[in-house]
Amino acid sequence: MIEDLLAANRAWSKAKQEKDPKFFLRLAAQQSPEYLWIGCSDSRVPANDIVGRDPGEMFVHRNVANLCTPSDLNFLSVVQYAVDVLKVRRILVVGHYGCGGVLASLGEPNNGLVDHWLGPIRALAVEKKAELDALPDPNARHDRLVELNVLHQVALLNDNPIIINARARGQAVGIHGWVYSLKNGLVTDLHAPIPVGAVDPGPSPRKVGLEAGPAPVAAAPATPILSKKRNLFGRSK
Ligand code: ZN
Repeated sequence: MIEDLLAANRAWSKAKQEKDPKFFLRLAAQQSPEYLWIGCSDSRVPANDIVGRDPGEMFVHRNVANLCTPSDLNFLSVVQYAVDVLKVRRILVVGHYGCGGVLASLGEPNNGLVDHWLGPIRALAVEKKAELDALPDPNARHDRLVELNVLHQVALLNDNPIIINARARGQAVGIHGWVYSLKNGLVTDLHAPIPVGAVDPGPSPRKVGLEAGPAPVAAAPATPILSKKRNLFGRSK
């Protein structure tokens, strides 16, 4: 019932303020997250809860099967804003075992529009067919494709012009590939076997939380990408 959700919301707000009377005042005044989370839309994978972060600590983008598709305007907008404006220092690409989107990619494409969205995973499964077929258990093949998908998305993100341009400016952006287990609530770091940062972000100079001071202002908004496009078409001055 919708009324139950609203009642739960009031109880949550009340509990938060009883624990920390200035919590919402600080939250409303700024947004300065340390992390960008790119995860699956699956209702069983709540981004902030899994890593014990409060509102304000993590910028979140979710889609079916946690894809970093370079043609997805929504995804690109989130990454650009998170990197260029919010200056997040670490991006977490988080898949999860038991992902229905990945499982659908292993079967017949009879799920409607979502099959088009999942096309990149289907292509990845074809590319990795020998490795997947070597696994005797269907669940093991599913789990491995979940991992391969995360690694592939990390690689795509690593090659994204938004990330490349940020690093060219000297901005440290670390990218991490994780897989979450629905069975025990634990995250596994896949230690993506590619360079994950031209500049390692290292220890954060910020305090994680809501007392980190004003949100940083972008020193150089996303003009490099635009400039390059203009150069490509010979229209820059
Ligand atoms: Zn999923």
